[in-house]
Amino acid sequence: MKNDSGIAVKEKLICGVDLGGTKLAAALYRQDGSLVAKDVVYDHKDKNWDEIVQIVADLVKKLMADHSLTSRDLLGLGVALAGHIYFKKGLIITVSNFAENIYNYPFVDKLSVLLPGLRIILDNDANAQAYGEYLFGAGRGYQNQVFVTVSTGIGGGIIINGKMFRGRTGTTGEIGHSIIDIDSDIKCTCGNYGCAMALASGLFFPDLYRMHLRRGMKSSIGIDEGSAEGLDGPAIEEGLKKGDPICRKIVEDSADVVGSSLYNLFKILEPELVILGGGLMYFGQEYFQRIKKRFLGHTHEMMAEEMEIKLAETGRDAGLLGAAALVLEEA
Ligand SMILES: [Zn+2]
Repeated sequence: MKNDSGIAVKEKLICGVDLGGTKLAAALYRQDGSLVAKDVVYDHKDKNWDEIVQIVADLVKKLMADHSLTSRDLLGLGVALAGHIYFKKGLIITVSNFAENIYNYPFVDKLSVLLPGLRIILDNDANAQAYGEYLFGAGRGYQNQVFVTVSTGIGGGIIINGKMFRGRTGTTGEIGHSIIDIDSDIKCTCGNYGCAMALASGLFFPDLYRMHLRRGMKSSIGIDEGSAEGLDGPAIEEGLKKGDPICRKIVEDSADVVGSSLYNLFKILEPELVILGGGLMYFGQEYFQRIKKRFLGHTHEMMAEEMEIKLAETGRDAGLLGAAALVLEEA
């Protein structure tokens, strides 16, 4: 028996929402991770949080209506959000890239009022991606793994014995805020200096470029302290292709910082596998190989068996699929 959209009615679907500062995506998937439908809006960009919750609810309702589904046809809804999440309580502790700053906002309770009868799970976007990779990507078959995303920031998610490890509240796996350089004068979004993400991620490329200019390096692409402000990942990649020495230095240092961070992870957790994802992995094989080389350079003879380092496989919709995957996690 099938409904209007040709979906077998007995098969419950999973729904995912990837809620970023500029982009809001929602999708329906089958339980094997195959996509049924997807929708993306940008309407929430300048809104307060009560309005954002309403927009999320409207988007999910529209997806369900388009496919003649009710909440009974869904196993649940997972929401992945770039922020600090109190997992068990469904709270957003803090966010930094949305128009309204909030503290301990009861996101799940508010969304539940608008989507009655639907089980809702809220988690950090890196945790969601980690679980998506574990179920549907490069992590299939491994019980102990760490996912690291290197993008605008650096985040991570830890899976131990086949379960997400969330620590006390849910803000664990924040490898990007491990402090790598105690003498650094680049301030991270968390307020500390010398965090891995402040030395290696896209958000800090303008600061890093200016730092190298001040230290006497010369830009070959005409970037000065003022115009450095707009340098994001794609701009650095372009500069790298044009042979700019500062862009090259930033990319090489970024790979080294990520490689050293992986070594720190290895010394603490010794996982079977580390999966690397996020936009900066599109820098390519040279970047990926340099990360691995740096990691191996630290290990000397401490690895009896090699820890595997793989690239993520769930692609640009990793957050969306990961959000839906959270619904399949055992409570
Ligand atoms: Zn930090």
